[in-house]
Amino acid sequence: MLNAVQVSLTPEQKFQEYLSSRPRVQRFTGQQKDMVRFIFSSHEHFDADSLLEEMRKASLVVSRATAYRTLTKLVDAGLLRRLVTGSRTTFEHDYGYPQHDHLRCMVCSKMIEFENPELETKLKEVALAHGFQIDKHSLIVQGTCAQCKKAKNARRKLDLI
Ligand SMILES: [Zn+2]
Ligand SMILES: [Zn+2]
Repeated sequence: MLNAVQVSLTPEQKFQEYLSSRPRVQRFTGQQKDMVRFIFSSHEHFDADSLLEEMRKASLVVSRATAYRTLTKLVDAGLLRRLVTGSRTTFEHDYGYPQHDHLRCMVCSKMIEFENPELETKLKEVALAHGFQIDKHSLIVQGTCAQCKKAKNARRKLDLI
């Protein structure tokens, strides 16, 4: 987990602002408040199903449909970031969290976060060369993490004996 970034509004206030600035003002429902509070109580990469499961364990009831709709709105509002790898969609905090990238282990699905200023600089150079303005980016490098690589090598050694 990386260090949080200082922000002026709480996630709830930010979402409230988003809901009231849409063409048709929308109500911030109790279920949505539960979701925002729950999601922002810890920084994790999560998918819709694991979120519903964790909320259920905490005795917070949100319907699937509401959960999916709210996640989409939270992405729109700039509170969450969507990470897509293959057929899997995971979410993480965007608001109050620094720009970063990910190494994803294809064996155990672990996501390792990293910040690299040189990479940011390179991306800006690439964008500039195309006259392109970057708003945000999401880079996911796929491969095998150190632990899974070690386990794999250990298995290979056993096979050789
Ligand atoms: Zn792994
Ligand atoms: Zn992340």
